[in-house]
Formats: sequence, structure tokens, C-alpha cells
Amino acid sequence: MDFLHNQLAVVQRQLSFVATDSIDWQSYVQAFSWIVCIFESYLLLRQYPLYSKTAPPPALAEHFTAEVFAKSQAYGKDKAKFSLVSGLYKQTVDSLMLHYGAYPWAWNVAGRIVGKMGYSIDYEILQSIAFSAVVYFASSIPSLPFNIYSTFVLEEKHGFNKTTPSLFVTDLLKGWGIGFVIGAPFLAAFLWVFKWAGDRFVPWLMAFLITFQMIMVILYPTVIQPLFNKLSPLAEGELRTRIESLATKLKFPLKHLYEIDGSKRSSHSNAYFFGLPWSKHIVIFDTLIKQSKAEEVEAVLAHELGHWYYMHPTKMLLVSQFHIFTILGLFPAFMHAPLFLRAFGFDKQVAAKPPTILAFMLFQMILIPLEAFVGIGMNIVSRKFEYEADQFACELKDRLKAEDMSNMGDRLGRALVTLHVKNLSTVWVDWLYSAYHHSHPTLTERLKALEMYKPTSAKKEL
Ligand SMILES: [Zn+2]
Repeated sequence: MDFLHNQLAVVQRQLSFVATDSIDWQSYVQAFSWIVCIFESYLLLRQYPLYSKTAPPPALAEHFTAEVFAKSQAYGKDKAKFSLVSGLYKQTVDSLMLHYGAYPWAWNVAGRIVGKMGYSIDYEILQSIAFSAVVYFASSIPSLPFNIYSTFVLEEKHGFNKTTPSLFVTDLLKGWGIGFVIGAPFLAAFLWVFKWAGDRFVPWLMAFLITFQMIMVILYPTVIQPLFNKLSPLAEGELRTRIESLATKLKFPLKHLYEIDGSKRSSHSNAYFFGLPWSKHIVIFDTLIKQSKAEEVEAVLAHELGHWYYMHPTKMLLVSQFHIFTILGLFPAFMHAPLFLRAFGFDKQVAAKPPTILAFMLFQMILIPLEAFVGIGMNIVSRKFEYEADQFACELKDRLKAEDMSNMGDRLGRALVTLHVKNLSTVWVDWLYSAYHHSHPTLTERLKALEMYKPTSAKKEL
């Protein structure tokens, strides 16, 4: 532990200028957030002309009728336009909020709210919770019209929307309620760890965050998701038998197998698994079950179990822990730096003893350019994992010595094509746009790879 703290102290000394130099951090945040926003707009403009192509790539030609291809292009075009406008709008709002001192204002409002409740401003954690609520509403309400447009105009136009206005409103209210019920104690505990551990907070906070994630893994499916969706045990039948036998053969600790009414809100489809190492749940969208044959859904699950077999979620968790560790390791330099808060327009009295939440929020704004690179790195890792999971599904025949799995690659390919077609996913993709945004390889790339992974006996005769 001392070694860790010594190393962290070295980092702090390198960053000591934060406390002593008067730096225009606000202009820095403005500049970099605009650079990232303009870069993302540029990517959309690279991608946009591809939606005007009139035929799919040769490799996909046989899977798309002219009508479906035209629909997917029109959907992609509308979504790209929407992303461009909403992205620029959101950045403008954020930028204006920063420019006009919305954060110092929100801190003062939070102080008055806490005062009305009969507490003094010495109750920093209470004021921090009020502050987060004020900032949350101030920044999310301006984007509400865009959410409404996306659901009721864009998705509706292309036949995906199943949400009713009353469902939209109850979802929103439930979301706020849950955000408060979970967010407030989380934030209180998070800030308390800083107070309690002082400058040696890094390992303690990491331990706290991991514990919190574990608790969420248990709470999410049992408490939170049932508030929004109905999870019912998958009906007895071919699909259930296939998945259960696959899970048994692979020694996957399957506890529950659910069907989720994803079609309640949207006709987009999917499947996933989650849970603790010794007790896993598989969830399949009713839309996927309806759209694909049992043997194809089984292939999708074989892919998902590939993620489990190679411990992809655990590896991702480790990468994200390392990411959090880096962020926390850099933070102390910004934590007790009055000049840092002053640069964002906070009062002298507030800045003199910086509240942790303010320092942490502003510190995260500083990291915007870094996070863009981290995102690209995470996508590279995630795409590698997708290929591995596809390969796992294709190799099941050899792995399980099961002759009936020799065509797993074909089945997975058909399922992916159906998913792609039904979701009207984008067919033509700009490489740079894809590198930045996509956590999955494109359909063309995956079909090509699936062909390679096939057991030699099942390869198409050349
Ligand atoms: Zn996957």
C-alpha cells in the first residue's frame, strides 16, 4: 500500500502546478469539447454520403432485397441527420452553461435548498446531492425535446417505435425516481470515502466502486429492470431445450432463462447474459425469438456464451478498473486547488476549501480529450472480443464433439443477417466513423470472418 501511495505522490508532484498556477481551465474545456464535437460531426459527414448508395456491398447483396436496402439507407440517413443536429445542440447548451456560470449558480441554489431544509452549508454531502440534482435537471431538460423527437418521430417513421406517450412519461419519472433512490446514497457514500480516507482515498474508493458494481449486478435484474420490462421464464419448447443443453455442455452456470418484452417499447432485438460468476441469467428479446428460427437463436446464444467462456466481461471490467484507477490517481492534484475552481467562476469562499464534488466534476471535464481516445481503445478491444466469440460459436462442433453443431457458423451468420435486416442497421460504413463509434465489427467483416472460422469439413467447396 505504501508503494502505491509513494508512486501516486510522484504523480502529484508532477501536477503540483495545478494548485499554484493560474490557468484558464474553462477556455481549455471549451476548446477541447468543441474540438471533440466538431470531430464527431466531421465523422458523420464522412458517413453521410454512404447512405445515398443504391446497392449493398457485393458480400451482402444476396441478403438484402432492394426494398429492405432502401429502407435501411433511409433510416441511416435520418439517424445521421438527427445525430448531427442533436450533437451540435447538446454541445452548444453545455458550452453556454459553462460560459454563463451555470455550475457556480447551481452550487448556490443547492446551498439555498439545503438551507431551507434547516441545514447549514457545513453539510457538504447534502449540498452535493442537491447540486447534482440541480445540474442533472438543468442539463437534461434541454435535451428532452430531442428524446421525444427521436422516439415519436424518427423511430416511429421507420416503424420501430412501440412506446406510447404515457409509457414515455412513466419511464421518465421512474428513471428520475430510481436515479435519486440509487444515486443519492451512492454519491453520499462516494463523497464520504473521500472525507474518511483523506489523501489515501485511491484504494478505498476503488474497493467501494467495485462493491457498488457488484451490488448493481444483483439489483439491476431483480429490482430495476422489472420496473420497466416484464421478464418471464422462456417457455418450454425447442429453443429452451437447445439453450439449456448448450449451457449444460459448456458448464455455464445458468440459473434463469428469460424472455423479455423488449417489443413493448421498440422492435429492435437482441440477447444478453449477466450475473455473478456462479449464477448467470440469460435474457432473450421476444422480438429476436419471433424473427429467427430456434437454431439461429441458439447460435446467437453460442456467441454470447463465447463471451462468457473467454471471460470478456471480466476482462472489460479490469480494463475499466484500470481506467478508473488512472483517473483517481490524477485527481488529488485538482482536489485541493482553489485556483482550479476559481477558473470556472466559483466564489472565493467556495473555492477556498473546494467541495469534492465540484473539483471532481470539473476534473472530469478536463479529461474530455483523453476520454475520446480511451473510447477508441475500448472499441478496439471490444471488436476483438466479438471476433473471438464468433469463432467460439463456430468451433463448438470440435469443442463439444457435437456433429449437429457443424453448421453453427452458418446459423450465426443467418441470425446476424436477420438482426441486421430487421433492425435496418447501417450497411455501408466509413472506416474512421466505425473505428470511433462501433464496438462491433460490421456485418460484412463478421460474415467474412465466420467463413474463415468454419470447421474445415464444413467449408464451402471451392
Ligand atoms: Zn458479442
